Amino acid sequence: MTVTPDYDAIIVGAGFGGMGAAIQLNRLGITNLVILEREDDLGGTWHVNRYPGLAVDIASVTYSYSFEPNPYWSRLFAPGAELKRYAEHVADKYRLRRHMRFGTVVDGATWDDRAQAWTVRVRGGERLTARYLVTATGFLSQPRMPDIAGIDTFTGKVIHSTAWDDGYDLTGRRAAVIGTGATAVQLVPEVASQVAELTVYQRTPIWVTPKLDGPIPRPLQRLFARVPLAQRIARLLNTAALEAIMVTGVLHYRHAQLMNRGAERLARAHLRRQIRDPELRRKLTPDYSFGCKRPTFSNDYFPTFNKPNVHLETTPIDHVEPTAIVTTDGRRTEIDTLLLATGFNLWDVNFPAIEITGRESRDLGSWWRANRFQAYEGVTIPYFPNLISLNSPYSYSGLSYFTTIEAQMRHMARLFGELRRRDVTTFEVKQAANDDFLAKMRARLGDSVFELGSCSTARSYYFNQHGEPALLRPTSTLNARRAAATFPVTDYAYA
Ligand code: NAP
Repeated sequence: MTVTPDYDAIIVGAGFGGMGAAIQLNRLGITNLVILEREDDLGGTWHVNRYPGLAVDIASVTYSYSFEPNPYWSRLFAPGAELKRYAEHVADKYRLRRHMRFGTVVDGATWDDRAQAWTVRVRGGERLTARYLVTATGFLSQPRMPDIAGIDTFTGKVIHSTAWDDGYDLTGRRAAVIGTGATAVQLVPEVASQVAELTVYQRTPIWVTPKLDGPIPRPLQRLFARVPLAQRIARLLNTAALEAIMVTGVLHYRHAQLMNRGAERLARAHLRRQIRDPELRRKLTPDYSFGCKRPTFSNDYFPTFNKPNVHLETTPIDHVEPTAIVTTDGRRTEIDTLLLATGFNLWDVNFPAIEITGRESRDLGSWWRANRFQAYEGVTIPYFPNLISLNSPYSYSGLSYFTTIEAQMRHMARLFGELRRRDVTTFEVKQAANDDFLAKMRARLGDSVFELGSCSTARSYYFNQHGEPALLRPTSTLNARRAAATFPVTDYAYA
């Protein structure tokens, strides 16, 4: 006798990925679902991150669902708080809150072959079952705490960028920022304007290009509201520009090195214009190819280092003491505030973010590590029936995460449509289809900056522990979109 599971679907994660999946499942008539979220509210990244200076760095007209445009973005690159409000708006409009359970940490999930369903283990002992499991746990969701000797002995204030303490007053502090990724690029100028002294500890510099930002005037917002086509055209133009950068500058490096070099020249000119001191400029100039690591956009990051109270430290940190950071040359810098812009751990703990056990007790994390990181179309994996894994290897397509989300929504529509057509409830991608997809991705990477550029010093999270750039899907977003709507349904086995 088959037991009916508690839910048709369990979605893990209430960020934009999880919400997109829920919208799609609802559209497909799958409404008995629950979204389990470890945080105390929805929005994922845009709920967790609220450090000063937080803003989107992909233009907002593109960084949003195409089916839910927001005509009222205040700037070309909206501040983080607006993204959070947009997430709330989407949840309300698409009636997603009724599905959400907050403060619910999922430890793992196991496929039950007999019941043809997933059993999901919630911290605290609760067990939930569902026909389908959708993991939407994000890529950048496990903060990286730096493994620096003595850091635990520091007696001042420590704040990671993902756990900003709004009540902490930076005025007059002697602060340090560790890290110079996209987060630091936004955070450093804000912190510098408040503290007495700021030292920025840089291990690897980042390519920074100008940010063409500015407020969106009210009349234009009203035009976007009244004539949605106008905003759609703006989106199309911006998306096309991003696509050109990504495809030609990064993915087709072999044939379009000039584009890549052009981007690098733009970043160098930006730095030259903003920093006069040649030694400081040298320190801020990356020695790896543009695109090996995610570049960023800012007009006020470099000029911050011209301020007398801001120091760039490139000598490696040796250890931390109760009131200071000591570099390997023995220099001590007294601080009372330690700000960690040290990013996220992707490959050790995030693939997958929870323990997932499939058919024949296959453990997804161990299997990915023992074999190559892989997932068919960046969505499904053999031996893991009825699992939609949104944050998989080769899933991230293009520069705006919404391109990925929407391609995956299309994939779900086609797959679940086929289930309905066949009047069955179980799917599993075939090994051969998975292998073929992996081979295609690997072959395409051969033309990319990741394989042909000079990436060894980039320390980029695009690369996994085996040195493979297995995060980004090395195709155009158009290709991803098309594939999601046209993949052979026979690539799956059904039961
Ligand atoms: P990140 O790019 O991974 O940067 C982390 C920084 O911390 C790096 O400079 C890293 O140096 C440094 N670091 C880590 N551990 C260290 C240690 N033990 N000692 C010294 N330095 C250490 O992380 P992120 O800046 O948070 O950005 C992550 C991603 O989030 C971005 O790439 C972007 O995709 C996204 N993001 C987006 C926005 C936006 O759109 N608005 C804003 C912020 C972030 P190494 O490079 O040498 O490892």
